[in-house]
Amino acid sequence: MLLRSLSLLFLFASQLTAAETASSLEQKAHALFFKGMISKSIQAYKNALQLDPNAASVYLNLSCAFRALSDPASSLDALDRALVLRPGDPDIMAEAAWALRHLGNHSEAVRRFEEALKISPNHLNALLGLGVSRLEGGQAEESVPAFKRVCELRPNFGGSVYFLYRAYRKIGRIEEANQQYALALRRDWTLREEESAIIKAPSSPQKLPELKLTSIVPLDTADRTSAIRVGLWSSAIGRPPALGVLELESGGPFRVVGTKSGKILAAGQPGERWTVRASKNGLTLSSTVGTQIEGILHGIAFEPDGPTSTFLVQDVRVPDGDFKTVPSREFRGSLTFYPERRGAKFFAVNELPLDEYLLGVLPSEMPSIWPLEGLKAQAVIARNYALLKKSSMRAHMRNHYNICDSQHCQVYQGVKAEKERTNQAVRETAGKLLYFGDQLVYSYYFSTCGGVVQSSRDMPGWGNHAYLHGKADLEGGADSAMTSPWEFNLWLKSVPASNCNDPALIPNSEYRWLRIVSAGALERKLRKFRLGKIKEIIPLSRASSGRLTEVLVRGTRRNAVIKREHQIRNLLGEESLRSTLFMVEAHAKTSGPPAEFWFYGGGWGHGIGLCQAGAAGLAKNSNKTYEEILAFYYEGSRVGEQK
Ligand SMILES: [Zn+2]
Ligand SMILES: [Zn+2]
Repeated sequence: MLLRSLSLLFLFASQLTAAETASSLEQKAHALFFKGMISKSIQAYKNALQLDPNAASVYLNLSCAFRALSDPASSLDALDRALVLRPGDPDIMAEAAWALRHLGNHSEAVRRFEEALKISPNHLNALLGLGVSRLEGGQAEESVPAFKRVCELRPNFGGSVYFLYRAYRKIGRIEEANQQYALALRRDWTLREEESAIIKAPSSPQKLPELKLTSIVPLDTADRTSAIRVGLWSSAIGRPPALGVLELESGGPFRVVGTKSGKILAAGQPGERWTVRASKNGLTLSSTVGTQIEGILHGIAFEPDGPTSTFLVQDVRVPDGDFKTVPSREFRGSLTFYPERRGAKFFAVNELPLDEYLLGVLPSEMPSIWPLEGLKAQAVIARNYALLKKSSMRAHMRNHYNICDSQHCQVYQGVKAEKERTNQAVRETAGKLLYFGDQLVYSYYFSTCGGVVQSSRDMPGWGNHAYLHGKADLEGGADSAMTSPWEFNLWLKSVPASNCNDPALIPNSEYRWLRIVSAGALERKLRKFRLGKIKEIIPLSRASSGRLTEVLVRGTRRNAVIKREHQIRNLLGEESLRSTLFMVEAHAKTSGPPAEFWFYGGGWGHGIGLCQAGAAGLAKNSNKTYEEILAFYYEGSRVGEQK
């Protein structure tokens, strides 16, 4: 009797704490999931369900964990149990239908997607799934309306057009397929990996269009005493190019000066065409008026006599097997050519006043049609960034320049890129810089955050700056979508509100994207790890914004852990992924290792600092000034005059 009442008491006590315990177990399971300990998270979710068998959220998160382990049958089972508790929820119905599609049951998947769409006719995940299931189930013709609807609803999502292309190709409507494909590429250049498989790249070097000299006006607000040196035609990782030949002409008189001796070697006039050529015994200079200088082993500078002329550089070629042509450009300021390996190759540096440099940066970094206050915010931070590169981040100094012209530093394309509205933004912010206390702000920026800005201290190598902290790109928004695996999944597959979610501003699929990478392509990309066939891609850790910091790739022979933002982006797609803010699903044929990996992602860029699309959104939709925009992204900072 005593024993019985004791056990009753025990039962009563455990029921009393049941609700709290189930919820804390669920939280523990979320943490395990986000750390890549998926099997352990499944056990923790199951334990939570023992205490509270009616917790729909636990079933939903459990379904995510099973999906992460490529177990669609168990995932479907968990989703069906959640549906009993939350009947008619279109998010759950759509995911259950996707699980059926993963199991190869296309007809049942179609039925379930249609059911979800009856409740929520514009449900994006359901529409996309309906199209995909029909297409793969042999109903290509019937898949077209679903994909068309996704295109209408999400004009800035390249993936939808891509599927339309796949459908037309299957039906044999090749012309329409090609049209859609061209459109898809315009919206999302990362789809090019498919293109390279279809279209063979031309083998002969293409002739680039001839440019003509522009008449320029010197920027009246530019401080001519402070110049910046820019490394031209740099690679995406900031390496100087190996130039072989280059031809140039000038809009005004100029001098040719040896940088080591300081001696004037020649004087030039407009209309003359000069050639710089690499050779085994130093650089050779020649001109159409008969000048010939040979054996140049140090830098050689072309200096204009005044600020009203430019140098037009045509026919720049790099000795890459056959000579490869690089784009013609036109520059304010001076040009210096530095020989390397005793003149077997050379690279080029453009020196010009800081603000005239900004004229060629702004339109390359932000569309000139964007709101003026957004452009002005960009002008201030591009100025900050260039000054910091010059004074303290001296990565390029051994090559005699402060900053390179590729995305490694900030993109600069010279005079031909200049636009009136971006020039106006530079002029109207002349002398303005962004400070935190009396220090220049490290004004990192990127294209689109996808809804959440990343804090710098979460990412190795980015420094711990108080003004670079993580937050929602929306006044009053939640600073993380990682509340649970299920919520995170919904967040990445939908188009949540945010300053940078404005299809009128970003026509490319930058806010939300879908990349489909074949297992074969990934195996080629990860060849050096000798993984064998790739079985799974499992996120091991995420920063608080949701961006991945560590990914485990499991192969049939061995595993690899990929760390660091640029590695994760570059290694997990033939073309690099837009960001590390993504989740990944393995798509199997029916059995065996996965055939494809689908990356559902958000945003473009590293996510630290200012979100360019968000800055434009704040200017356009919230009427913010550039000072307010900068204060939003770099909290605690203020705009001040250059000291
Ligand atoms: Zn650089
Ligand atoms: Zn944003």
